[in-house]
Amino acid sequence: MNNYMLHLLQRKQRMGLDEKYMREALAEAVAASEADEIPVGAVIVCKGRIIAKGHNMTEMLHDPTAHAEMIALTAATEYLGGKYLNDCTIYVTVEPCPMCAAALCWAQIGKIVYGCQDPKRGYSLFTPSLLHPKTTVTHDILEDECSTMVRNYFLGKRK
Ligand code: ZN
Repeated sequence: MNNYMLHLLQRKQRMGLDEKYMREALAEAVAASEADEIPVGAVIVCKGRIIAKGHNMTEMLHDPTAHAEMIALTAATEYLGGKYLNDCTIYVTVEPCPMCAAALCWAQIGKIVYGCQDPKRGYSLFTPSLLHPKTTVTHDILEDECSTMVRNYFLGKRK
């Protein structure tokens, strides 16, 4: 196999993994939706293992900061026994808001993978430089599924 073929194969495997973990984040978003919360879900993966999950719980906890990323972040650092997540990737169904982007920066998260963009509250609209300089970002993974879930939630609210 030549280098180019190897490169393509590795890329395909990486995409497959991104989709696999994004499905887990989507399952968390479904849990949020069933609890009548805005359906956003997140999982944090460390060395090939899901170490934390979270979904939006702002209604249940009466806490505007209880975003999926914040819940997963706290669970992951608790699990690892340290405040840094350099070796971790967070998969989140919707682009993080500036608050979550800043929190992920404090944790020095290794990688952020998000499903769909948030055209109103996404961090990249305001301050793309909020992230840690070493954090890499991938987006538009299962974009349709992630955005449809949020859209359906708000359509349901308007009835
Ligand atoms: Zn947020």
